[in-house]
Amino acid sequence: MKALGPIPSAFSADADGRLLIGGRTADHWTAEARGTPLFVYDRAMIVAQAERFRAAFPGEVALHYAVKANPFAPLLETMAELVDGFDVASAGELGKVAHLGRPVSFAGPGKRDFELEAAMRAGVTINLESEGEAERALAIAASEGLTARLAVRVNPPFGLKGSGQKMGGLASPFGVDHDRVPALIRRIVEAGADWQGLHIYAGSQALKSEALIDVQHETIGLAAAIAESAGLAPPNVNLGGGFGIPYFGKDEPLDVEAVGRALGRALADRPEILAGTQFAIELGRWLVGEAGVYLTRIVDRKVSRGRTFLVTDGGLQHQLAASGNFGQLLRRNYPVAIASRFAAGAEEEVTVAGCLCTPLDLLADEAMLPKAEVGDLVAVFCAGAYGLTASPTAFLSQPMAREILA
Ligand SMILES: *Cc1c(COP(=O)(O)O)cnc(C)c1O
Repeated sequence: MKALGPIPSAFSADADGRLLIGGRTADHWTAEARGTPLFVYDRAMIVAQAERFRAAFPGEVALHYAVKANPFAPLLETMAELVDGFDVASAGELGKVAHLGRPVSFAGPGKRDFELEAAMRAGVTINLESEGEAERALAIAASEGLTARLAVRVNPPFGLKGSGQKMGGLASPFGVDHDRVPALIRRIVEAGADWQGLHIYAGSQALKSEALIDVQHETIGLAAAIAESAGLAPPNVNLGGGFGIPYFGKDEPLDVEAVGRALGRALADRPEILAGTQFAIELGRWLVGEAGVYLTRIVDRKVSRGRTFLVTDGGLQHQLAASGNFGQLLRRNYPVAIASRFAAGAEEEVTVAGCLCTPLDLLADEAMLPKAEVGDLVAVFCAGAYGLTASPTAFLSQPMAREILA
């Protein structure tokens, strides 16, 4: 038997023991969407997370949404009401938020000239990843007669400890090495660009508040040191994000309130050169990850050499991370349940497989679940971030998953 991850506590059952998402059963949503597999995103949970952030953090800290976590259009419309800005990582993502009327910033390596130009025309802040990108942006601004709103993304000398993906303190395709940033700031200001400040992102999926508190402290110190060296105060400092959610058996949720209190103290004591700076935090996973449920229907129930398999109409083509193949070193089970028997106790050990012809396509391995039959719905939780658009949807030419905002 292998443990299942923790089901987010906001989910509950109706009087018949069926899983409720946004106050309705899983069957209601699959009927509404006319089929499975289906991602359901619970709007109220997303609103609650944003409100929790606002209550925990000083009012002067802006909240941005990192679009790559989940770019589903109705979800982005909800986000536009909840956050102060969008962070995009491609011209394609920019196209999904440009009409929503919120400030946008654009980070990411390998921005092509057409993307830099589209960003400038849309008034987007470009987070520069290198000196070469800065020169291309300045050249486009000059030739097209556009104002370049440029911030410098810093490759910091430190990383976010205990985070899923360590970034920072390393050679990196992201950002400009911190010791070269002051010279680049002077270059873009002298070239007439509208310098917007600094962007410092040190990692992702942190569950330990102490790690985030430390990295935010270091980030403020680094921003001040760069500003002193450049002789210019940054209008904005994006402190990054990296807030994690629990996916696996022993994961403990992040104490966001502790991070917010510590940031309040750090900003109150900040160096003089940052006195007029506007700070932002950019979050993807923490805002939307727990609000998503992936629903997939059991097509076959079979026993092979003593093991029971529930074979579903979904799989890693929609939910790669739950299969353990998206950046995990060791395959562990996401939180999974049988939707129609959400309140029932575990009765049997099963392996939940997808419908792809690869042994990698597992949604739960040797997990204890209530007895399920062909036609029942399996619910995979924590599917709101890095789900459908972070999965190889073209693999095996299976139908695309549906999505709905509940
Ligand atoms: C992906 C990304 C984010 C969002 O990360 P989460 O772990 O989803 O919060 C934020 N900022 C940058 C620069 C990113 O690349």
